[in-house]
Amino acid sequence: MHKVAVLPGDGIGQEIMPEAVKVLDKLGEFSYVYADVGGAAIDKHGKALPEETLKACRQSDAILFGAVGGPKWEKLPPEQQPERAALLPLRKIFDLYANLRPAKIFKPLAGASPLKPEIIGEGIDILIVRELTSDVYFGQPKGIEGTGDNRRGFDMMQYTAREVKRIAKTAFEAALKRNKKVTSIDKANVLHTMVLWRETVAEVAKKYPQVELNNMYVDNASQQLVKWPHQFDVILAGNMFGDILSDEAAIITGSLGMLPSASLNEKNFGLYEPVHGSAPDIAGQKKANPIAQILSAGMMLKYSFGMQKEAQRVEDAVLKTLEDGYRTGDIMTEGCQKVNTQEMGDLIAERI
Ligand code: NAD
Repeated sequence: MHKVAVLPGDGIGQEIMPEAVKVLDKLGEFSYVYADVGGAAIDKHGKALPEETLKACRQSDAILFGAVGGPKWEKLPPEQQPERAALLPLRKIFDLYANLRPAKIFKPLAGASPLKPEIIGEGIDILIVRELTSDVYFGQPKGIEGTGDNRRGFDMMQYTAREVKRIAKTAFEAALKRNKKVTSIDKANVLHTMVLWRETVAEVAKKYPQVELNNMYVDNASQQLVKWPHQFDVILAGNMFGDILSDEAAIITGSLGMLPSASLNEKNFGLYEPVHGSAPDIAGQKKANPIAQILSAGMMLKYSFGMQKEAQRVEDAVLKTLEDGYRTGDIMTEGCQKVNTQEMGDLIAERI
């Protein structure tokens, strides 16, 4: 039986998590260990990631995470703030270097996208695979030195072949389960780091002859994403370029409450969470859209538990619920029926 560490966190995390568990329970038998994280954990245990929570994660096969943070904890020193003191250590401790963010437009929600209907067509389905633990964000040296006009800020962009190989492998493996196409993003025309990136990705690609590999400069990719998004299946990118492109891809889907994510390590242990935060403005009002959390649970089935069929059933049930005209407030359009968080969870669970 798969064991899941369930960390609802703060704000709407507490409301959307039960809906994801409800859907999981329709698909199999899982054992859950609930633990506090974020602001809720600071209030109860004095820190955002208590020992017991870490233990629960270590003893589980995957972590299902809600969201953390809120105005109550914003005045704490940065290193004690819920996001920084909970999520960053979890990523580090479990070496969660592969961030997977699907940017999918379900056809019934095409109207929410800022892109023209003729560009969206039948919907968009892209998976962004972003390296999460290296690149210019972590490279040394970094800092600010000197004085006056000679003051200098610097950050080292760097990748080792090992780091590129493992994230490229994640992208190719993911492409095998999708439309067998990887677009690798770089800036090999000006950056040495990216020459190594391109060469290493090409090497990994040799092991996946079924998958088509294209290389694209990051500036071109940012244009292509809004001009012709259908050309993409899996986008593979380093930490910084992936950071920027995944947000661009998120906004073209038009709805934050719909976007799941996964962060994986080499053993396919993963942390699964919605892309959005704790939404303090609507917390406790039953207005939150639980779909991002439910789809995150679906990703857990697919990537950590190898339950492809069940993962597909989650996506199909979400699509069917939207086709049947049910909407939470954030995705509401004329002629649809407005439902609350719990009702949306029930409707999706019924359609599994
Ligand atoms: P947010 O994502 O929480 O909310 C942005 C807007 O989107 C809000 O208007 C909110 O009501 C709406 N929204 C978000 N998710 C929704 C959902 N599921 N259904 C309906 N509407 C939804 O971002 P924010 O307001 O910038 O941040 C709020 C708090 O969350 C902050 O403390 C921030 O640090 C934290 N945060 C946490 C994470 C995380 O836990 N991974 C990520 C981002 C932000």
